[in-house]
Amino acid sequence: MNKDDFSNFNLNSLIRDNILKIDPYLSAREEYSYQEKNSIFLDANENSFGSPLSFSNSYNRYPDPLQKELKRKISEIKKISSSKIFLGNGSDEIIDLIYRIFSRPNTDNVIIFPPTYGMYEVSGKIHGVDIVKVFLTEEEYQLNLKKIKKAINPYSRIIFICSPNNPTGNDIKKEDIENIIKKFPGIVVLDEAYIDFSEKESFSLELEKYPNLIILQTLSKSWGLAGLRIGIAISSEEIIQWMNKVKFPYNVSQISQKIAIQALNNKDLFFYHLKNILSERKYMEDSLTKIPIIDKVYPSSSNFILVKISFSSKNLYQHLIDKKIIVRDQSKIILCNECLRITVGTHEENEYLIDQMKKYSEKCS
Ligand SMILES: *Cc1c(COP(=O)(O)O)cnc(C)c1O
Repeated sequence: MNKDDFSNFNLNSLIRDNILKIDPYLSAREEYSYQEKNSIFLDANENSFGSPLSFSNSYNRYPDPLQKELKRKISEIKKISSSKIFLGNGSDEIIDLIYRIFSRPNTDNVIIFPPTYGMYEVSGKIHGVDIVKVFLTEEEYQLNLKKIKKAINPYSRIIFICSPNNPTGNDIKKEDIENIIKKFPGIVVLDEAYIDFSEKESFSLELEKYPNLIILQTLSKSWGLAGLRIGIAISSEEIIQWMNKVKFPYNVSQISQKIAIQALNNKDLFFYHLKNILSERKYMEDSLTKIPIIDKVYPSSSNFILVKISFSSKNLYQHLIDKKIIVRDQSKIILCNECLRITVGTHEENEYLIDQMKKYSEKCS
């Protein structure tokens, strides 16, 4: 556990035995033929006459299994080589793949830091892997390094860190993340779903230093493409190749690939929306702080804000529902007692929310 450099790092020793042994399914479109646009394709049992769609005839073919054009765009934007990028059917598919590759059911355990994103635990339970929880520190929501070190045992295969963290919204301290990546002999997954809303830099800039690091990003949040289901993993070429071996051959649909490329070509609008979200976040933070029933507005590096209500977040939640405003009640989540998580909306939406909260607060006083 006292490994300060990675000279002894052996990726294969972390990979599940049955996975080490498989020969991947080679889809027809993975062979050279996919590149040759002018060929006659009689290799994949597609319908050569086309689909019954009236507007397009381009969906009768299987999509590019490795999403090369889309990866090239993401590679340009994130300044990371395509060979270090994996795309999944949302980050949730990637989390599942990481369990499949790196953990053994009924044997291994995985360490998570609640309150955090629920899928790490759900996916672990689906895979029959023990979930070891080391809670974040109270109020600051930072890693508890001492307790983490005690919790790690020889069967700990994966650690999930979420920064900025969901549902608390804050960045995890950089030196603490570095400490875990350097000391932990297994795989560290750093979920940066909200990194574009943070002032902190992505760890993807330091990928070369860490052969055990997998960074997760997504097009669902800052890029506004939750409906397409495109999650991104950034890691060493070796780890990316394992993911490619284990994934379903056509895991990202043709239509998702095509539309994502169109969106990524429109960076100006992306930055415009991002700027608006950040200024609306500020507006919400300022306004929420002034509402008497709100005890605390937690600092946010994301596109949502966690607030603590002085009494009964449940009642406020219900009041907002009655006004057709849906926020997330976190009162059952550890360390989030009486908390609501509120996503930053458009200015009109935020104004209406603040207005309704003020009215509720007045009623209570
Ligand atoms: C929203 C979110 C994701 C994104 O999931 P997708 O499956 O890519 O939509 C990942 N991690 C966290 C912490 C999230 O909050």
